[in-house]
Amino acid sequence: MSIFGVGEERGIYKEVRRKKILWSIIIIFTILPIVIAFNLKEELQRLSSFFWSLFLIPNIVIMILYPKWKVIVGTALFFVFFKYATHFIEEQSFNNIETVALILESFVDAAILFTVSYFVLRHNKLLKHMEKLTIVDSLTGLYNRRYFDLSMEKTIPFSQRINCPLSLIMIDIDHFKNINDKYGHLCGDEALKHIADIIKRNVRTSDAYVRFGGEEFAIILPNTDLGECKILAEHLRKDVNQSDFTYHQAHIPISISLGISLFKGENVEGFIEKADKALYTAKENGRNQVVMFRD
Ligand code: GH3
Ligand code: MG
Ligand code: MG
Repeated sequence: MSIFGVGEERGIYKEVRRKKILWSIIIIFTILPIVIAFNLKEELQRLSSFFWSLFLIPNIVIMILYPKWKVIVGTALFFVFFKYATHFIEEQSFNNIETVALILESFVDAAILFTVSYFVLRHNKLLKHMEKLTIVDSLTGLYNRRYFDLSMEKTIPFSQRINCPLSLIMIDIDHFKNINDKYGHLCGDEALKHIADIIKRNVRTSDAYVRFGGEEFAIILPNTDLGECKILAEHLRKDVNQSDFTYHQAHIPISISLGISLFKGENVEGFIEKADKALYTAKENGRNQVVMFRD
């Protein structure tokens, strides 16, 4: 399920406009060298290989639009073939010196294209990595609080607009301090990863699962009512409770408490507070249980 907010819709509109502009550049600079080649005066024909370098522009724009080596090499080969075919149709024969000029020009273009591609692809990879760092918790691999806030910003207006239920689960590990105190902080970290893996295994792709902070986790469930949310929460609780968490041969019992709430038009803080209150009740009632928030 997509969770586009108003801001994102504007972003998509801009993206469509950007693609239209880039495709116009591709078309213009694909046609331009051909028009020039067919209209060059006899005495300027020897300069034709110079104009074929304009093909670098559509090549580079396609590389920006689809930054993948396969696409870059495929496009480059297509344009080389296109250039030689057009040149042959126009000339009907290959004059030796022109052929050499064309081939040399192809090598120079390829060198420029592949150098630019290398840096663009490297830059893209780095950017993706940086983006990931800002939204993923490095210990558990779950999303972080920042992602939670961004996700809420988009999911709430979207759920209201399409009139779909939206639920939230807040999770807290029971007596986690005891694990840290008894087995050490490294064991505590392993327990966090263990729970995170169980959460990852149980959620749907549309759900946003985050490490909310410390030993607390949260799951945003779009298009999910309280009944369905309770089933998933109960499933998670059982899975954690029955899981075998082992650290240095020690079998450590582990459990979680869960509070769930349904979105009813309040602000984000209010929505979280409801799930938090339910979680608090679960703790008070003896832990290792799911509690629903009731108004
Ligand atoms: P309760 O059942 O009431 O939730 O008890 P608790 O012991 O789980 O709760 P408490 O809030 O007393 O303790 C939470 C502990 O979680 C304290 C803190 O040191 C620990 N903690 C928070 N973040 C991390 C972390 O990244 N790694 C480890 N190992 N411990 C952490
Ligand atoms: Mg806590
Ligand atoms: Mg706890």
